Amino acid sequence: MLSNLLRNNEAWAQRMEQERPGFFKVLSAQQTPDYLWIGCSDSRVPANEIVGLLPGEIFVHRNIANQVIHTDLNCLSVLYYAVEYLKVKHIIVCGHYGCGGVKAAMENGDYGFIDNWLRHIKDTYQLNVEELQQLDEPARFDRLCELNVIRQVQHVSQTKVVQRAWQQGRELAIHGWTYAIEDGRIRDLHVDINSQEQIAAIYQLPPLAK
Ligand SMILES: [Zn+2]
Repeated sequence: MLSNLLRNNEAWAQRMEQERPGFFKVLSAQQTPDYLWIGCSDSRVPANEIVGLLPGEIFVHRNIANQVIHTDLNCLSVLYYAVEYLKVKHIIVCGHYGCGGVKAAMENGDYGFIDNWLRHIKDTYQLNVEELQQLDEPARFDRLCELNVIRQVQHVSQTKVVQRAWQQGRELAIHGWTYAIEDGRIRDLHVDINSQEQIAAIYQLPPLAK
């Protein structure tokens, strides 16, 4: 059943090696990506392809509706490894318009177990309810996709590993983008955070002990 995928893989590996002799040998020794991508699991939003990066160039975490939740050990472990060991310089939270997770969160449906995950997006809705209620349905959906990204950018900035990196004087910026499935274009939301001073006081860690 899956033989076509394995054939694809064989062809891809051969093509890569022809175009870039030694590519896999070099990669097998190390990875030094400058970027961490936190995106949606949606099959239409593949990280490497849409920013034109090769294997080895971007570290990737994806989950439903690109959430960064303070108790999600999976996401936090990826973030920790990327910042502490890979020393990435940029963390990109990339959501997308038409996100099924965001759409489901806007409704009052019963989606079973996943409702627990979607509730975080409902929180974002409720935090911005006044702005969202002034919009018509399509605009409200688009805007919630953006607000969801903006909130996850804030969540990344509030983590200990990111704040410690800044305190050590390291260059590290968090960016918020949304991707449009209709035309393949990324929109920069211009919500970059690159210093501890930009975080609300309640989340700020104390200075490093001397
Ligand atoms: Zn999505």
